[in-house]
Amino acid sequence: MKPPIFEYFRPKSIEEAVSVRADHDYSAILAGGQSLIPTMNFRIANPTAIIDISRIDSLAEYRIDDSQIVIGAMVRQRDIELSDSVYKVHPLIRETLEHVAHVPIRCRGTVAGSLAHADAAAELPALLLVSNGCVVAHSASGARIIDANELFQFHMTTSLADNEIITEVRIPVMHDDAGWAFLEFTRRHGDYAVAGVAVILRFSEDGICEESSIASCGIGSRAVRLPEAEAVLLGKKLDSNIINEASQAGKEYVSAADDTHATTEFRQHVLSTILSRAINIAKSRARYGSE
Ligand SMILES: Cc1cc2nc3c(=O)[nH]c(=O)nc-3n(C[C@H](O)[C@H](O)[C@H](O)COP(=O)(O)OP(=O)(O)OC[C@H]3O[C@@H](n4cnc5c(N)ncnc54)[C@H](O)[C@@H]3O)c2cc1C
Repeated sequence: MKPPIFEYFRPKSIEEAVSVRADHDYSAILAGGQSLIPTMNFRIANPTAIIDISRIDSLAEYRIDDSQIVIGAMVRQRDIELSDSVYKVHPLIRETLEHVAHVPIRCRGTVAGSLAHADAAAELPALLLVSNGCVVAHSASGARIIDANELFQFHMTTSLADNEIITEVRIPVMHDDAGWAFLEFTRRHGDYAVAGVAVILRFSEDGICEESSIASCGIGSRAVRLPEAEAVLLGKKLDSNIINEASQAGKEYVSAADDTHATTEFRQHVLSTILSRAINIAKSRARYGSE
């Protein structure tokens, strides 16, 4: 199918892009095009103006400072996946990106585009949530920071206003004593997750879990944190009973109805299984996880 008729703009600066966005009631940002073009071809999205941000040079850069990784809105998923400097300060990012679609799609798709698209089963929203990340959104009236826990509202729906553009994704670097894991279940390699989990854990020198961050995708209308499962781990030594209790608590967050991929009951089973595995992997990778 072909997309509906639209006006096409290719701004050279963020200022120009936000000004075009302000002038058009129903515009869409074209980043990697891996989700926008299919949704237009299927007539799920019918924007009257397309703003192609691929010629804004400043958006194609990423940098790492002491406390965070700052990823411009045109940085491709594959560039971040292959970056050794990013891997060094936040290894969970590579592990998560390896589950997103297929290599040719990651070579075009951007990190920011996936977050803006906000598919409920996409992996990167769970990554942003588990890492306490945020995005910077620009409009004609200035810039604001949107925390991950405010960004994702519903399947393919974010709290971005119609006149805003994500310019940066910010992900705090991981503590070097943390353990991490991303696991998901899919029917075929490269598919969106039937259920996925991202886990970051830290332990005191005597093996007590003192930081626990868990997020999931594919289990409801948006990616979510699993605070009840996090709470089960906090302040404890993680033996198999505690890990089992946390994975059962995580199961309660499955809100997706039966669909063509899985029943609710199967999703709950998958979630508790991968959550328990991911906690064990994160524990084994953390500096004081296995005393
Ligand atoms: C066959 C196939 C399989 C896939 N499988 C997976 C998968 O398993 N997991 C997964 O997570 N994804 C998957 N994807 C989607 C892929 O990861 C996309 O690249 C990603 O979702 C969107 O990134 P993009 O840069 O291509 O964004 P685009 O397609 O350009 O844009 C997507 C949406 O976000 C908006 N947008 C983009 N950038 C911005 C911005 N800076 N500010 C505001 N709005 C913006 C657009 O207007 C549009 O609405 C798959 C895609 C395909 C084609």
